[in-house]
Amino acid sequence: MIIAIDGPSAAGKSTTAIALSRELQFLYIDTGAMYRAYTLKALRMKLPLEDEDVISNLSRDIEIKLINKSNGITVLLDDEDVSQEIRRDYVSKTVSIVSSYRNVREKMVELQRKLASEHDVICEGRDIGTVVFPNADLKIFMTADVKERARRRQKDLEKLNIIKELDEIENDLNRRDQLDSSRKISPLKRADNAVLIDTTFMTFKEQVNFIKELILAKNEGKF
Ligand code: C5P
Repeated sequence: MIIAIDGPSAAGKSTTAIALSRELQFLYIDTGAMYRAYTLKALRMKLPLEDEDVISNLSRDIEIKLINKSNGITVLLDDEDVSQEIRRDYVSKTVSIVSSYRNVREKMVELQRKLASEHDVICEGRDIGTVVFPNADLKIFMTADVKERARRRQKDLEKLNIIKELDEIENDLNRRDQLDSSRKISPLKRADNAVLIDTTFMTFKEQVNFIKELILAKNEGKF
């Protein structure tokens, strides 16, 4: 079974997907983490991010692995654990340019499809229901008011000991969503048959239970 969850930044996709995958024993695929790891490698090599050819060529020499753990996932870049580093601001601010390149996306999508060919998966990102798995069993488009998303992101960053003003976080989220929605290849957009969930006024538990009910109903052939 393939469950696709898409939506803008900080809408709660990852935490919800992690909780669901644990409860249902599905593999969790965090596709944003893959684009972040790719970006981190390019940054470490000091490659010019605006040069599409140079950044694309890196796809021949990069290994990204996602390991599901009981408390989330570990992201390996060329066998190094970069799970924390990829969440840092300098990666968040630059990932959208790298993820806009066709060859980069092709390489990541190939990896995502391979993982889903071997397991039941909950796959989360921006183009999962539209491009990666257009035939997914269930598609969810999760969103929330940007101010609420900024507040949630601020709390996440605090856990990493990163203190950032709410306004700055909101501006960064808006900027990233704008880049992700307006790019030519695989833009962030709701698939026609995706269930829209606005989590602005929902608790975390409500989000998880709502989607879980949909998955169980789907599994029993109820819709
Ligand atoms: O989900 P997360 O915020 O970690 O994603 C980081 C970035 O990776 C997004 O802003 C977007 O540029 C890119 N991304 C993408 N396609 C996906 C998942 C993420 O382009 N399926």
